Amino acid sequence: MYELPAPVTLALDRLQEAGYEACLVGGCVRDLLRGQRPQDYDLTTSARPEQTEAVFAGAQLVETGLRHGTVTVLLDGMALEITTFRVDGSYSDARRPDAVRFTPSLCEDLARRDFTVNAMAWAPRTGLLDPFGGRADLEAGVLRCVGDPARRFTEDALRILRALRFSATLDFSIEAETGRALRKLAPRLELVSAERVYSELCKLLCGVGAGRVVLDWTEVLGQVLPELLPMRGFDQRNRHHCYDVLTHTARVLDAVPPVPELRWAALLHDLGKPGAFTLDEKGEGHFKGHPALSAAMTEEILRRLRASRAVRETVTELVLLHDRQIEPTKAAVRRVLSRHGAEFFTRLMQLKRADNLAQAPAYRDRQQLYDRIEALARDILSEKPCLNLRELAVDGHDLKALGIPPGPAMGDILRRLLEAVLDGALPNERAALLEAVKKEHNTAAPG
Ligand code: ATP
Ligand code: MG
Repeated sequence: MYELPAPVTLALDRLQEAGYEACLVGGCVRDLLRGQRPQDYDLTTSARPEQTEAVFAGAQLVETGLRHGTVTVLLDGMALEITTFRVDGSYSDARRPDAVRFTPSLCEDLARRDFTVNAMAWAPRTGLLDPFGGRADLEAGVLRCVGDPARRFTEDALRILRALRFSATLDFSIEAETGRALRKLAPRLELVSAERVYSELCKLLCGVGAGRVVLDWTEVLGQVLPELLPMRGFDQRNRHHCYDVLTHTARVLDAVPPVPELRWAALLHDLGKPGAFTLDEKGEGHFKGHPALSAAMTEEILRRLRASRAVRETVTELVLLHDRQIEPTKAAVRRVLSRHGAEFFTRLMQLKRADNLAQAPAYRDRQQLYDRIEALARDILSEKPCLNLRELAVDGHDLKALGIPPGPAMGDILRRLLEAVLDGALPNERAALLEAVKKEHNTAAPG
């Protein structure tokens, strides 16, 4: 077991000393039992919200969740969500319970939770409460609904995606009946808001088992990402590839670091392949133009899922460029760094490496080329280069002093100077740049 942070122990003690039941519950108990550090600590208690507030009088309180029985207490800078034991009322919209009702029974509270591994409670003084066999499922690596799966997924369709998400993040298999129910009820995912779908998918894609989940549950994911379906089983008929498009995609997904933008780009990079497929006279398949097609589809998907603009733009650009060659020369690498920045460059190279590793074994030899390109990038960056107009050794004021009026023409001159610096044709030094401007101007000006 992980050592509990002091504020957590303090909060449990205070509630218990005031005569209430109090314990940790849900995801943090699951993570503690797996020996992992929980992201956050949720407490549950028999105290009513106003009683919880009284116990923590003097501490900073946030009341935003009060309607659902949650008081957030700030102790030593740590935010703890403390929720009164409750049961959900009926669900009329497959999204949110119509009402919640408080209960004196912790077991009843655990019964409303989604999966057995998320339905355990624990406190140092009282030990583990595990009425649904969560601990055994945790040890066996199994995700299983609490209660009747079909009923639970009908109540709340988001649980369908949560099941796939936890299967990916915990690398757990999905128990057979739970799996059958979620497959059958997958069409109910249309009731879930785009924001929630997107948030679950981000977590799913960053899980260690993401590739497996994409392959095993394609049909279910197809409810929210129908664009994935044509990739399944799509034979590339090309000697560079030994996998169908979706299997290749799943391998790329697992081979890039778990950064949301990168995982999304990996998932979506070859979406356009089925649509761009052509066969030549020798019977070999080609996918000319597929990155642009994939990028257009990516953009549309991320709009539909209401991803932030920054994420959408980065992912779309990664998809667009995933297959574009970068020459192993300083000028070419400097151009990519100049246009996209060092962080994007790193992500792009990670995607390209993974894409290459997921090709047929005989064609996985691009890695050395990528080593060279990355070495060049390190050289360039260590030289503290000029990569954009801001870093250029001259600016508009300098040109004005030479008699060039501000305006579009001045912008053109500055951009041409930057190009010359990026190409290595000119050093990024004031005197040299001004000299070049004068020369060009004198020859361009009549007389
Ligand atoms: P994470 O590590 O992502 O925080 P978590 O298990 O803590 O995982 P949360 O979404 O924070 O997940 O939810 C906290 C707990 O609330 C869950 O462990 C589960 O017991 C319960 N829960 C959350 N969402 C649902 C739901 N849609 N249906 C039933 N129970 C849920
Ligand atoms: Mg949580």
